[in-house]
Amino acid sequence: MIQLEHPALFKTQSYINGRWVEASTGAAIQVYNPFDQTLLGSVPDLGVEDCTRAIEAAAAAFQEWRDYTAAKRSKILRRWYELQLEHVDDLAKILTLEQGKPVAEAKGEIRYGASFVEWFAEEAKRVYGDVIPGHGSDKRITVIKQPVGVVGAITPWNFPNAMITRKIAPALAAGCTVVIKPSELTPFSALALAELAAQAGFPPGVINILTTSDAAAIGKELTSNPKVKKISFTGSTRVGKILLRQAADSVKKVSMELGGNAPFIVFDDADVEAAVEGAIASKFRNAGQTCVCSNRIFAQEKVYDEFVTKLAAAIQDITIGNGMEKGVNVGPLIEPKALSFVETLVQDAVDKGATVLAGGKKAVNHDLIFEPTLITEPSTEMMVYREEIFGPVAPVFKFSSEAEVIALANDTNYGLASYFYGRDYARIWRVAEALEYGMVGINTGMISTTVAPFGGIKESGFGREGSKYGIDDYVNIKYMCWGGVS
Ligand code: ADP
Repeated sequence: MIQLEHPALFKTQSYINGRWVEASTGAAIQVYNPFDQTLLGSVPDLGVEDCTRAIEAAAAAFQEWRDYTAAKRSKILRRWYELQLEHVDDLAKILTLEQGKPVAEAKGEIRYGASFVEWFAEEAKRVYGDVIPGHGSDKRITVIKQPVGVVGAITPWNFPNAMITRKIAPALAAGCTVVIKPSELTPFSALALAELAAQAGFPPGVINILTTSDAAAIGKELTSNPKVKKISFTGSTRVGKILLRQAADSVKKVSMELGGNAPFIVFDDADVEAAVEGAIASKFRNAGQTCVCSNRIFAQEKVYDEFVTKLAAAIQDITIGNGMEKGVNVGPLIEPKALSFVETLVQDAVDKGATVLAGGKKAVNHDLIFEPTLITEPSTEMMVYREEIFGPVAPVFKFSSEAEVIALANDTNYGLASYFYGRDYARIWRVAEALEYGMVGINTGMISTTVAPFGGIKESGFGREGSKYGIDDYVNIKYMCWGGVS
């Protein structure tokens, strides 16, 4: 049992139609702390029947919720936002215990997650239409935006809070209702959000949260049930493709936030110290387990040695350990298979001739912590070049020209985040325009914010979360053509 200031936030039941429920079969999932594998508690292991029930509740609630005035929806969202900030310490504690990230980072995630709720509470009131000059003298055209209906949201374990709010805040603001399936590894953050949503005054059925170990079956139901009008997914490209295929049968609207293989480029004229700081922030946050983490670092010949030496020194300053302890910067990976995947990547690099300048192995006395690792002189033949690393491993490639590094950076099926450091004004524009990515960080390693449109291209998906564009994914555009105006 987790000790909290407000124990009511630690929920061990799913939330359907405004009620806390067990699985109809009585089955449960045990949830463990990735730092020390202690049991945190259990949640219901729901099946398809429960999912169908949640979809029906969401469809019924949609009739009422969409007819609320925008101001009324906004007020409830705003209250939900305030409650999240009031309970930031408890929410962060739950998050760190089930996910492993340092508690300071967890607090950052709660604030980041809540900022979407605040933003879309405001945007709810600005879902404007249009009046278009007609195509005949007796014609007038008006455009309105309407909520799509029930949204099925499937979210990952790496941001157990923010990946939910980033999807459902715009959905709820637009007037949609939601059925959420969080990761089975981190269900408690999702359930705590539901408890606060209940306190904020969302009517029953507007927000439903299903915990399950059978993601495939629930995913199938969400993508095939005709009452669900939209699927929003954050997770691997592999699962995204399955969901896209499934959603095709009923031609659902979809948003996909999938994997990444972010380049991080340091040009000769860069502020090397700033680049090191940016690389540390973008590579080692959440132990490297974010889809926007820099994956392949490229440093130009003249600054390569200086950059690598300074990066190695900065890596030595990283403290690994229990995310609940002050001063820890890197916690455990989420599960044993994540650790063995990172081990495989490093072994592959070593076998093919790379040098390990820092770290390189599992930390002593910690089952799931991998040491922050620096790999020099890697090659494009290595797995670290192609695969999404999702761990604290930084391979630094050497390059000579701008054209060469752009070709290398774009040599991937992914297109989510990219970063580069340099000062030349014209080159900054050229490179930013040439990078085939949805997001470009220029002289910064931290790009995520509510006010900007987060999302990818290529096999990193489509759809945008946050910003003034975020609501577009949850509305249908309808035009009315008025004739006989004479
Ligand atoms: P990761 O590799 O980051 O865990 P996944 O894509 O495996 O990413 O998981 C992201 C989310 O997708 C989780 O909630 C997981 O339970 C869910 N998921 C996994 N497989 C499927 C599937 N076949 N259908 C629907 N959801 C799935």
